[in-house]
Amino acid sequence: MGLTVGLTSAGVITVLAGGVGAARMLAGLRLVVEPPAITAIVNVGDDTTLHGLHISPDLDTCTYTLAGAINPETGWGLVGETWNAMAALERYGGLTWFRLGDKDLATHLYRTHRLGEGAPLSQITAEITAAWDLGVRLIPATDDRLSTTVTLTDGSTISFQDYFVRLQHGVPITGVAFDGAADARPAPGVLEALAEAETIVIAPSNPIVSIGPLLAVPGLREAIAARRARTVAVSPIIGGAALKGPADRMLRELGHDVSVVGVAKLYAPLAAALVIDEVDAGLADEVAAAGIRPVVAPTVMSTPERAAALGRTVLECLS
Ligand code: GDP
Ligand code: CA
Repeated sequence: MGLTVGLTSAGVITVLAGGVGAARMLAGLRLVVEPPAITAIVNVGDDTTLHGLHISPDLDTCTYTLAGAINPETGWGLVGETWNAMAALERYGGLTWFRLGDKDLATHLYRTHRLGEGAPLSQITAEITAAWDLGVRLIPATDDRLSTTVTLTDGSTISFQDYFVRLQHGVPITGVAFDGAADARPAPGVLEALAEAETIVIAPSNPIVSIGPLLAVPGLREAIAARRARTVAVSPIIGGAALKGPADRMLRELGHDVSVVGVAKLYAPLAAALVIDEVDAGLADEVAAAGIRPVVAPTVMSTPERAAALGRTVLECLS
């Protein structure tokens, strides 16, 4: 079966997006809709400043994945990357636990320069994505400061990247907060994309630290809840575990069920349907009891074909 067989005219699709899982979901959706009218509202809670540079990891993961330029070995950064700048930085004892490849640095240089000129992140994101010709519109959830922090068992609070990269998410947490969220405004186009969407998709991203920051921007949760009948979520938890990353441990440590049922409870106020993996078919009744319609399908997007099939499932399950 050719990948472009069975294209649907699905209208406008708006996707709530974190990093890797969302990027694959977007790539799958792009294969099955014609014309592609896909907007992703992307998490910026992971954004950080290093070496004076503004880094937007989830925006970049979505950009590079959709450009076909993601590094397949790491799942982040650019394919064919070199590390000369990092090696040179080591000479000075500079900060190197967050790896920035030579080509990737250009993205951060450009973004930081434009921010310095006063351009909003949404405008800069449009410029960067246009240069890669993605066929998908990426909008940061907000142009304002929104910074995810994590509280550890000793009561200390650290930045998300300190937890995720420096500590390799290997320590238990007691809380997550989104600094600045209360004063953040949705970026231009965000509320319109939610209001206009034929289908809203909550991508299989970390519910706590990828989707959580989006929902913390005043107005977003309400805008999605208002479109609940047209919203479908895909579970990032499969067989009681995350495919990668700390989503499963974070859910447990913050008191949620580590299963599709836990995901169902989080998303039931927002989405009419939850796509759960076939391995979780036995939990479909519990998902339904949590107030969200279960849709059982293969959800591991290990190939573009599988991502496309999941994209089709997502678009068809509300029709
Ligand atoms: P980030 O890349 O670290 O920003 O992470 P995301 O916010 O994308 O979340 C990672 C989550 O995505 C993990 O819980 C994974 O289980 C989930 N995920 C990644 N790839 C897939 C996939 O192909 N299918 C599903 N269902 N979940 C996925
Ligand atoms: Ca992320």
